[in-house]
Amino acid sequence: MPVALDAANAAARPVSMAADAAAMPAPPASFAPVPACWVCGGVSARRFHRLAFDFDLYAEQDPGLHAYTQRCAWLVRCTDCGFAQPDVMPTLPHFFERMYDQHWSEAWIEREFAAPYKDFIFRRILGELRRRRQSAGGRLLDVGAHAGRFMHAAQHAGWTVEGIELNPRTAACAARHTGAPVHVLNAHELGGRGLRYDAITMTDVLEHIPEPVSVLTTVARLVEPGGWIAVKVPCGSSQWHKERALAALRPSRRVSLADNLVHVNHFTPGSLARALRTAGFHDVDVETAPPELVYEGSPASRIVSNAVRLAVYAAGRLPGAVHTPLALHLQAFARK
Ligand SMILES: [Zn+2]
Repeated sequence: MPVALDAANAAARPVSMAADAAAMPAPPASFAPVPACWVCGGVSARRFHRLAFDFDLYAEQDPGLHAYTQRCAWLVRCTDCGFAQPDVMPTLPHFFERMYDQHWSEAWIEREFAAPYKDFIFRRILGELRRRRQSAGGRLLDVGAHAGRFMHAAQHAGWTVEGIELNPRTAACAARHTGAPVHVLNAHELGGRGLRYDAITMTDVLEHIPEPVSVLTTVARLVEPGGWIAVKVPCGSSQWHKERALAALRPSRRVSLADNLVHVNHFTPGSLARALRTAGFHDVDVETAPPELVYEGSPASRIVSNAVRLAVYAAGRLPGAVHTPLALHLQAFARK
């Protein structure tokens, strides 16, 4: 995939992703080039952020993963659709499963179930699904159910819920609190069982999974004709502006956008809509998503922090503002 450098490096020569990979230090930590945009298939992209790997914490748990420490990759933005992704991907088998193999304590998982920081986001999703379906209830699948707080809220809103959650401990927590099925499977395996849903939610999930159109196509097969999908992701371009602004205010703070490839997909409103349409959805709306709210710390700091978050959100909901840096997160709704 030929890439042109960004404006800051405009004088530099075009380079190829394959050449970059070859120029990196020797194996065992190796990479494979990503040949084209995961959303539109375009082959022209500009580098804009160098991301770092740090797996020091995995030195004993997983030496293969730890070998990637101090390696680097580039985030590149597709010049055709605006979507951004890494220029290379680690070739280590099951890289992401190994990275997310976190041994959370039962107490921490229970606190995640009890924590209300995403409730504002959840209320918006449930309210909007109800409005669009013009009824309450139906079968809802939450992909990436985590500890089950959203499933629990959806149950109280009248839905018959199920979840997908690959971490067996958080899946068990979600099942315990809802009494509902929580599948420790990926969406592809679930589709093979013939299950179908009236609504599927993916909240803060899609940014973590490579090749998002392929993921959405698999999920689309699980949605009944006429059913809905709700997808929430960070807005890649806005997060980049925010990180740069914070780093400018505090020079000791480095721009941390996707270290360790925690986020592999960096959507703009247009590229998220395009990904959903390519996956087979229509009636696509992409809006500014509500923020997480702070519920810990001193009352004064909570009030100030939440007031800032809500003010930015209110500004981001103004007409056209979803295309500005005020839209830090995106919430899409689309119909099968
Ligand atoms: Zn593209």
